[in-house]
Amino acid sequence: MLEKIESLELEHWKTSLDSKTIMWIELCHKGKSTNTLSSSVMKELDILVSFIEKEVLNTNKKICAGIIFFSNQPSGFCAGADVKEFTDVAKKSEWAQASLEIVTKGWLLYERIEKISRRLPTVAKVKGFCFGGGFEFALACKFIVAVDHDSTSFSLPEVKLGIYPGWGGIKRLPQRIGIFQGMSLMLSGKFLNARKAFKAGVADVLAPERTADLACERLIKQNPKKKDLSFFNQVLAGPLKRLVCIFIKNNIKKRVKERHYPAPFGILDLWKYHNGNPTVETQIHNRIVGSPTAKNLLRVYQLQESLKGLAKKYTKGSDGQVPPILNHIHVIGAGTMGGDIAIWCVLKGLKVTLQDVSTSQIAKILKKAPLEVKRKFGNKYKQMKICDMLIPDPSGHGIKKADVIIEAATENLKIKQEIFAKIENDAMPTALLCSNTSSIKIEEIAKGLKDTSRLVGVHFFNPVLRMPLVEIIKSKNCDQNFFDLAINFTGKIKKLPLPVKSSPGFLVNAVLMPYLLSAMRTVDNGISPEDIDSAMVNWGMPMGPIELVDTVGLDVCLAVGNTMTNDDPTPICLKDLNQKDHLGKKSNRGFYKWEKGKKVKERKLKLNDDEQRNLAENLIQPLINRTSELVTEGIVESEEMADAGVIFGTGFAPFLGGPINFSKNKKIESL
Ligand code: NAD
Repeated sequence: MLEKIESLELEHWKTSLDSKTIMWIELCHKGKSTNTLSSSVMKELDILVSFIEKEVLNTNKKICAGIIFFSNQPSGFCAGADVKEFTDVAKKSEWAQASLEIVTKGWLLYERIEKISRRLPTVAKVKGFCFGGGFEFALACKFIVAVDHDSTSFSLPEVKLGIYPGWGGIKRLPQRIGIFQGMSLMLSGKFLNARKAFKAGVADVLAPERTADLACERLIKQNPKKKDLSFFNQVLAGPLKRLVCIFIKNNIKKRVKERHYPAPFGILDLWKYHNGNPTVETQIHNRIVGSPTAKNLLRVYQLQESLKGLAKKYTKGSDGQVPPILNHIHVIGAGTMGGDIAIWCVLKGLKVTLQDVSTSQIAKILKKAPLEVKRKFGNKYKQMKICDMLIPDPSGHGIKKADVIIEAATENLKIKQEIFAKIENDAMPTALLCSNTSSIKIEEIAKGLKDTSRLVGVHFFNPVLRMPLVEIIKSKNCDQNFFDLAINFTGKIKKLPLPVKSSPGFLVNAVLMPYLLSAMRTVDNGISPEDIDSAMVNWGMPMGPIELVDTVGLDVCLAVGNTMTNDDPTPICLKDLNQKDHLGKKSNRGFYKWEKGKKVKERKLKLNDDEQRNLAENLIQPLINRTSELVTEGIVESEEMADAGVIFGTGFAPFLGGPINFSKNKKIESL
């Protein structure tokens, strides 16, 4: 049989038959470090499946005990469909139809794998990531063995791209783990590590790496009957299906609007009406994939990948030298930002020394860190090991040994200049010096240094533990190698680096301020904060602009607004509230009243839907205009980078694909 398989001359799948007649099939995407299910990989899988159907199943001899699918790629089992291929298809005008063909092929192929699995035990041995179509492939096998390794991770993230798991995930995941758990994973795109996957019932076996092969072989040999879903879950998917769908739909509605994000609603409908089969009729597919949201979210995904790609590009400095390995980070300032930057770096496995003039601030962060570590890692030993990497350092002993020094002290030029003047002699000559300032010119801060080319602006966003973007600011004197190193560092800690030139507010704050100021001027004109916020949230923003001002602090907005807008008058309401010390959430009173961290709505909405839509489009215009201006001024490299920065830095409605993309689409619509 082996010779026959070999005669298939597959490029991406390697097969072997062991002495126990178990067929081992390895996915190894030729020429790629990451396995994806590109059209060529799927084509070969089709050939392989046809071979198994014909040569293994349709014979009287028992020539194969079972099949184990696996991958030895260091990156993992499979990252799913090839999104690049998919987005290329998305550029076609008949994209809903073209994508349906891809979905149909995958659906039918995985149905055949499931059919094989009913007659011959099949196992997917998963180490590393197992996403999207890769996870659906594993689900089509009879058993899943999860290798107990930090990198193992299961997810159906299609919803985040505005599409749906069309290769059987909607059918098979709820069959495996019940409808509520299954839907929760599909509708959130959440990741499950190996242990959680086993606990949830996604994986049949959790095996340490050294015994994983044995565990797979045992499953083939014993071929145990799969446990049925619990009676309760069977009832939910049977007689109570209609009620379950109403309940889930109401929950989705609480989070998103169908006109903005059709995919979660469509996923539920596909399960409800066709048990996940997208080929029965095209209406639901067209509703999801034919929406502008799907195209825009796929674009956003690619923008995100290109920001990640920047970090990979800079694995060598511009002088061709391999940059120093960045293992030790020294953070100066343990406040809101510095504290969280320290915790984030520790969570990413780096050693951090944390300095502050206030030891109580350091103590606060040392108390907070274990909670965040626990949230991220279940393993107690690992928790202890990670917490040990965060070292209190009030005297700054870490400066001498640190590879990266991040200053996140109080926003005051003199303080920052003094800090850099002090550390310059002690720091290693190769150490990267960064400032997290949000409004002071990097050139000014660098005046504290003898060698001004060493300083790079590395602007994290608040809250650091949630916001993915970091602006990397290049001052006029900045040395290219240090700048590249800052991008490299940002990638290493799994944030998205956005290179920007030194300019007031960089990109994100520069586009946000005109938007916030225009919202506050609208308050001056007699429209209530509630109406303004409701208009923008209905339009698609994650939070209204007035609530955002209250959250950031009215004093901060006044100061930043003054430095960034020279001629425009400050909104009267902003000045008045500042004078009364109504500074927002932190003082329990700003535009809103705040109780226990929650805003209290005091006024009823007065505007109808049309008025709200008009208001929203007027309010967002200054943000869009400023973004275009910054591209023209060369502060940010391209329109794509600007869109990415505004989405990941402000939360600008991702389903619109970024401010520039939105305004371009609007122009096309109006033609
Ligand atoms: P913060 O007031 O919460 O913390 C500042 C910390 O710096 C305090 O703990 C203070 O004790 C410490 N500090 C002051 N002088 C020091 C010195 N000489 N040596 C060591 N520590 C010193 O401020 P924050 O909000 O964390 O802001 C820090 C920096 O980050 C500022 O430059 C700010 O502009 C920037 N930033 C803030 C935000 C935000 O939303 N808060 C967002 C992005 C960037």
